[in-house]
Amino acid sequence: MSLLAALLVGGATAATPVYTMTSVNAESLPGKGTNIVATVRNDAKRAGVVHLRAIEDGTSTSVDLGAADEGVLIALAMGLQVMSPVSEWDLMLPLGTGALPVTLMRDGDAISVEIGTLTKPDPAPSAMVLQSRYGIGELRSDGRPWDEAARRVLSDVLALLTPDERAEIEGLAFVRRAEPHATHRAAMAEVVGRVDFDAMYLQEPVDTRVEVYDRLFQSRNTRFYGVPSRPYGQEHWGLIHEVGHAIAARGRLTTLERRTGLALEAQRSADALNALIGSYNRAVERFNQLPGQRQTGEERALLDGIKAQIDVSQAEVEALGVRVNAMTRELNAPQESEVAARFAAVLGSDTPPTEYGRASIDEGFAECYALYKLDPDALRRVLPKVYAWFASEEYLR
Ligand SMILES: [Zn+2]
Repeated sequence: MSLLAALLVGGATAATPVYTMTSVNAESLPGKGTNIVATVRNDAKRAGVVHLRAIEDGTSTSVDLGAADEGVLIALAMGLQVMSPVSEWDLMLPLGTGALPVTLMRDGDAISVEIGTLTKPDPAPSAMVLQSRYGIGELRSDGRPWDEAARRVLSDVLALLTPDERAEIEGLAFVRRAEPHATHRAAMAEVVGRVDFDAMYLQEPVDTRVEVYDRLFQSRNTRFYGVPSRPYGQEHWGLIHEVGHAIAARGRLTTLERRTGLALEAQRSADALNALIGSYNRAVERFNQLPGQRQTGEERALLDGIKAQIDVSQAEVEALGVRVNAMTRELNAPQESEVAARFAAVLGSDTPPTEYGRASIDEGFAECYALYKLDPDALRRVLPKVYAWFASEEYLR
């Protein structure tokens, strides 16, 4: 503020300074190949700015455009486009892998730029650290690596979970893929009425996982979720949404696990049955090859014993088969999870905060859960009853 104060004291103008709220995104930065020096010169002329200054260590010096570094030039180019005649603009300039905190001050015919230090996020934890810290399953690479950006988002999202929530997703695998399998895409499209997916929660026998696609990291959305001091991006939203599905799907998971266990049991019984049939057939063959006088009642009783065992085993296999089929029907029937059903009762006639959340009650739950985790105050403002339900941890019961 010191420069602005000094300029105001200088009496150039007495207008009230404006605090510029415009955000920047990578697309609005001057592109590569732009003659940025000429751009700044032209824009300054058009805006009536004749003094371009840089502040370093509290000292203001005239900017020599030809010698200025790229950050200063980009900041000036942006400021000259956006700022009103008397204003301050604090922005994080996205540069390379980090962001440059920049304060721009404009006072009539003068604009100054003060550049902070490039802030780089801490390195993202490794896959192994994420697994042990949060108790998740493996981070699998299915054609795409769990690179720095992907591990960072996952790390941010997992850090938002309470210990109880972590317990709910214990052992859940996360898989990086370019895009969904065509079958998964088609199946989901049928339910939610769209075909582009950032991530997907998938339940398959013995492989429950969240798949994370390239699209999650390609958001052009300059909006953020949460508070400005801790903004979360669209990629955080997409991932926590899927974690919400995983938490809501617990009941279904139990059925799935039971079905899988039962199917294994049925398979083992069928194997045992086949082994019994094999030994019966061998025994019959042996019996038939015996000379007539040795085909005794005792030998016959032995065969009957094996036959009785086969009958028992067969009945057992058939009963298991009936139960596996019943559970398969239960799993395949379109159904809401039990958590989502309770959520629906709380939501009542209210509508979820996003359009996507209206696709189904499961999606409504996941969208509300995402908002609850990333911006609880916003959920409290728009859906107070739903907020209270989440805050009381009803969704974990
Ligand atoms: Zn969803």
